[in-house]
Amino acid sequence: MDIDKLVLEYPMINDMRECREIMWLNESSGEEMPIPFGLNDIEDAEARLARFAPYIRKAFPETESTGGIIESPLKEIPSMKKKLEEDEGKAIPGRLFLKCDSHLAVSGSVKARGGIYEVLKFAEKVAMEKGMLTKDDDYSILTEDRFRELFSGYSVAVGSTGNLGLSIGIISAKLGFKVTVHMSADARQWKKDLLRSKGVTVVEYEDDYQKAVAEGRRLAAGDKKCHFVDDEGSADLFLGYSVAAKRIIPQFEEAGILCDDEHPVFVYIPCGVGGAPGGITFGLKEMFGKNIHVFFGEPTHAPCMTLGMMTGLNDKISAQDIGLDGKTAADGLAVSRPSRLVGTIMKSLLDGCFTINDEKLYPFLADLKDTEGIEVEPSACACFTGPHHVLASEAYLIKNGLKDKLENATHIIWATGGSMVPREEMDKYYKMGKETK
Ligand SMILES: *Cc1c(COP(=O)(O)O)cnc(C)c1O
Repeated sequence: MDIDKLVLEYPMINDMRECREIMWLNESSGEEMPIPFGLNDIEDAEARLARFAPYIRKAFPETESTGGIIESPLKEIPSMKKKLEEDEGKAIPGRLFLKCDSHLAVSGSVKARGGIYEVLKFAEKVAMEKGMLTKDDDYSILTEDRFRELFSGYSVAVGSTGNLGLSIGIISAKLGFKVTVHMSADARQWKKDLLRSKGVTVVEYEDDYQKAVAEGRRLAAGDKKCHFVDDEGSADLFLGYSVAAKRIIPQFEEAGILCDDEHPVFVYIPCGVGGAPGGITFGLKEMFGKNIHVFFGEPTHAPCMTLGMMTGLNDKISAQDIGLDGKTAADGLAVSRPSRLVGTIMKSLLDGCFTINDEKLYPFLADLKDTEGIEVEPSACACFTGPHHVLASEAYLIKNGLKDKLENATHIIWATGGSMVPREEMDKYYKMGKETK
């Protein structure tokens, strides 16, 4: 790859090569472009999750209160807002919320959406093909031994930096599938230990995420009864994530959040390979159109989606190609090459991407705990700089007629993981956040 030529065309790559934070605005956002999915796909996924709710409720009693629906609260975080304003010396007009996917039931991260959805869909297909399940059944029968026996003849495999593995591993093992998780070197030890304790086979790699996925894919390819969850291009994962957008509508109503020509909403989502933030963005744009503005946050050492979208090369370029190492404390975002599915879909939907220095992650983690009493993992802290990036983007605000509407704005930071982090580990993160300040 001729990087020098690429830099001439996209000078921002110079900053990215030096690990300097950047804000990239997507000129193609809002253009008319064909998208391979539509509202019906989101509704289909939502309906499938509703069919499975009686099963989830029975298999995971912690979901009793929500009737087997895995959903997270949208919380206003005024004290954190004040802290961000003080630190930056600049106000954030409007309101600030945290979408707490960090606290989703079953697997404690955003992966409890897409990951669990894809495995449920596979289980449904297997059981229906055997004539053991119809759409009209009460899916709680899936907890019966005859289903576990059926599923034990099939296997599920996935490559992951940690959280996808957790979600796929937990739901697959619960249903009775044989399950193998291929973990990259970035994966935290406790995630591997937890999975092994649930009977999941964990294969460890000394290489990065891309290698773990490739090996998983290769090993699964030879086995007809193995379902490989392909984080680099799965439509099922993508659509499972998109359901979040439909379910946020009543949460907006409850919180008094308007999203219309006079009331812009800005959403900031941490991005790894792109599947989770991509699916959520697709859903949000389907539901709210141009008045919702969505941005991805990535670590300066692994800005794969920014690089892929900026250059239009998508998965044909990696962070390594511009000399970056892909290493970051945001383990869930330690991905060097973006999804082959998501970049093209995001071309007309995503409003921009920004990057964040690793040194800021732990302090944000500590601030969120101190100000709001909410604990999240480092990856979930990649977007606290988002509002200030957008507010400093004069050209963007002017182009979209937003300058005089900022007082009416709502900012939503998507917290993507954290509630399964063991106590000791979380205390370590917090301490690091306090020490680096
Ligand atoms: C996976 C993950 C993300 C990003 O999702 P991708 O689909 O990889 O882009 C963000 N935060 C956390 C905590 C994650 O586990």
